[in-house]
Amino acid sequence: MQLKIYNTLSRQKELFVPLMEDPKYHGPKKTTVGLYSCWPTVYRDPHIGNMRAYLCRDILCNTLEKIMGYPLRNVMNMTDVGHLTSDADEGEDKMEKWAKRDNMTVWELADKYIASFKRYLKLLNIDEYEIICRATEHIQEQITMIQQLEKKWYTYIIPDDGVYMDTSKIKDYGYLAKLDIAGLQQGARIENENKKNKTDFGLRKFSPVNEHRQMEWDSPWGKGFPGRHIECSAMATKYLGEQFDIHTGGVDHISVHHVNEIAQSECALGTHPRVKYWMHNQFLNLWGKKQSKSEGGLVTVDELIKKWFHPLDFRYLCMTAHYRSFLEFNEDLLQTAKNSRNNLIKKMQKLFDQHAKIIIDFDSMPYEQIKETITSKYVGDALEDIMNALMDDLNMPQVLAIINQSLNSLDKVEEVDMNDLFVALHWLEKNLLKIWLFDRIGQEVKEIKIPAKIQKLAEQRLEAKQAKDYARSDELRKEILELWREVKDTKEWYELMKM
Ligand code: AMP
Ligand code: ZN
Repeated sequence: MQLKIYNTLSRQKELFVPLMEDPKYHGPKKTTVGLYSCWPTVYRDPHIGNMRAYLCRDILCNTLEKIMGYPLRNVMNMTDVGHLTSDADEGEDKMEKWAKRDNMTVWELADKYIASFKRYLKLLNIDEYEIICRATEHIQEQITMIQQLEKKWYTYIIPDDGVYMDTSKIKDYGYLAKLDIAGLQQGARIENENKKNKTDFGLRKFSPVNEHRQMEWDSPWGKGFPGRHIECSAMATKYLGEQFDIHTGGVDHISVHHVNEIAQSECALGTHPRVKYWMHNQFLNLWGKKQSKSEGGLVTVDELIKKWFHPLDFRYLCMTAHYRSFLEFNEDLLQTAKNSRNNLIKKMQKLFDQHAKIIIDFDSMPYEQIKETITSKYVGDALEDIMNALMDDLNMPQVLAIINQSLNSLDKVEEVDMNDLFVALHWLEKNLLKIWLFDRIGQEVKEIKIPAKIQKLAEQRLEAKQAKDYARSDELRKEILELWREVKDTKEWYELMKM
C-alpha cells in the first residue's frame, strides 16, 4: 500500500516516503513520522472552519498511524500568546483585547478557550494529540532561535518596535508560496514603513513603553513578546528536530505564516528543506463566504448541536468533500449529511438485525493485517477499493461512495460472508470514519441504561437550575454533552437524550 499526498511544495501528488525510510535523508535518525500543525489562537471558540482543518488532519493521522501502521509523533502548538491582529504583526493584540472585553486575565482567557477547543475535538471524535505545546511555555526556545538568527546577521532592530527578520538576506525566500518577491517589494504587502523590505517580519516585539501588557517577558532585547511566526519554528524544532515529515494547515497560511516559518527555521538551523511535505486544507465557506474569526458571525459546533444536529453529522459532511476542495456549508447541506449518516447507521442496524452476528472487537491493526483475516472476495475487494481511494491523497468522498455502493449492492451478490462485512466495517469505523456507525445497533431491543455518572450530573444540574444558578447549570450541561447526552427540560423534570 503506497500513500500519495499532494505536496504544496511541488504542487503535485507525491509518493509518501517518510524521512525514516528515505535514503536521501542524512540527518539524525528518525524512528517516527513527525507531524506538526498550527493551532488556532485561543481567544474565541473555534469556528467550524477551524474544525474542518483539524478533521482533515485527523483523517491524515488515522491513515498514517492506524491504517498504515507508522509510529507517529503528533505535535500541535497552542497559540496562547497574544499576536497582533494581522499576519504582519501590526494592529491590536487579539488576546489582550478579548480578555478585556470578557473581563478576565489573558491567562484565564487562554485556559478557557484551550478547554473549549479540546472539548470540540472530543465532540468530533478527533483523537487527542500526542504532544500539545503552549507557546507561553516555550518563550526561552523562541528567544534562543532569534539569537541564532542574530548571530548569523539575519536580523535588525526597529527602535520602539521589535526585532525583525531581513528577508532580503534569505536565498529562496517564499519558495513554498512561489512568491513573486520583486512584485511584493513594489506592491503593498505590509504596512510598516520602517522595515527594510516589505516582506520582513517581526521575530519579537517590544512592549510599548507606556502601556502595561499582561503577557510580556524579559529578553536580551528588553521586555517584549514573540512575533506571530516564531513559536511554531521553535516548538517544532524542540519536538520534531531540525527536519520533519509533514506540516499541515489551512491554505490561508501558505503565503505568509508558513513561508516565514520556513525562512526563520532554515536560516537559524542551516537545514533544507525544513519540512518534506506541506499539506494544506481548503476553506469551509459559510453561505458562500469564507468563515473567519475576525469577520464575526461565527458558527461553532455548539450552535449546530443547539439546532439538533449531532457533531458527527458535521464530521460526515466534512468527509463528503476532498480536503483540497472548498467545503460549502449551509443548514441544508448539513441536513443532507445528517440523513446520509443516519441512513448508513440504519442500514447497519438492519443488517445486524437480520444476521445477528457478534461484532468482534479487536485491537487496532493496520490494513495489511486486517486484510489477511478477510476471506470473502466481495468484502476484500471493496475494502481494497476503499484503501486505494484513501491512498490517493486521502480521497474521503470516494471512500464514502464505495462504502455506500457496496452496502447498496449487497442484494445482488450471491454470497457475502456477513461476519467479514461487519469486521471490515467495524475496522473502518474504528480507525477512520469515527461516525458511530454501530452505535444504534440493538438500541431498539435493549432498554437504554443511563450511566450513573451522567444521571448524577443531570440531577445536580436540575438542582442548580431550581436554585437559579444558571452558570453552574450551563457548565453541567456542557459536561453532560461531553458524555454524549443532551438534557432536554420538561416542565418539572428533564429527559436525557442520547445524541
Ligand atoms: P487560525 O486561528 O485562523 O490561525 O486558524 C486555525 C486553523 O484553521 C489554521 O490551520 C487555519 O488555516 C484553519 N482555518 C481557518 N479558517 C478556516 C476555514 N474557514 N476553513 C478551513 N480551515 C480554516
Ligand atoms: Zn504555525
